[in-house]
Amino acid sequence: MNSTSGVLLPHIESCVGDYTAPAWLAYFQALFTQSTCSSDRAAWYSLLRCTFAIRFAIWFLVWTFCEYATHRWLFHSNHKWNPFFKIHQFHHSLSLESLCAKENRYPKPLYFVWFFDNVYETLEILIGETIWALLIYWVDPEVGLPLLCFHYVYELLATDSLLEHNAELEAPLGLAVGKFHLEHHRVPTSNFGFTIDLWDRVFGTYRASTGKKYL
Ligand SMILES: [Zn+2]
Ligand SMILES: [Zn+2]
Repeated sequence: MNSTSGVLLPHIESCVGDYTAPAWLAYFQALFTQSTCSSDRAAWYSLLRCTFAIRFAIWFLVWTFCEYATHRWLFHSNHKWNPFFKIHQFHHSLSLESLCAKENRYPKPLYFVWFFDNVYETLEILIGETIWALLIYWVDPEVGLPLLCFHYVYELLATDSLLEHNAELEAPLGLAVGKFHLEHHRVPTSNFGFTIDLWDRVFGTYRASTGKKYL
């Protein structure tokens, strides 16, 4: 018996018979096969607590990938039967002067109840981001709840010119804000990330915006 799994997963191992996979793989196997061993539960909770940071990081990457994929392959898929393209084009039709206006630095009252100026912008955030965070909450509530809280706070700050459309802000720490996002407005085949720039770097759509002026 693997000593790690012996401590953390004494019952999971017994449920999967002679299978000698690593503890993390046995855990996911048990999770997705919905093992009926009632004594698994305590060991699962123990492992869930131990792996919270790892699971949060994994789900965060999954969520940001879903954002990237939705923006790139759904919102920017220019097909006459694609309603999501039309929804997203509303955002691209706005002038940089209005998006970056300094009077839009702070969240408006309706943002707190998840309504962002109009139906198009609201649908875009719901389809592009919120729905994926809700799905993660459904699969893994312990991680999904803090992720939803992060999404809520981040979206309040990011929607207008405080972060996302701040023409003076060089994107810090790989965040998809300020000049990074404004470069997407200038060249819509680049910089699709909504929260981080990682997936643009992975898929080759990253465009540097450092030093450029957008107004
Ligand atoms: Zn924008
Ligand atoms: Zn776009």
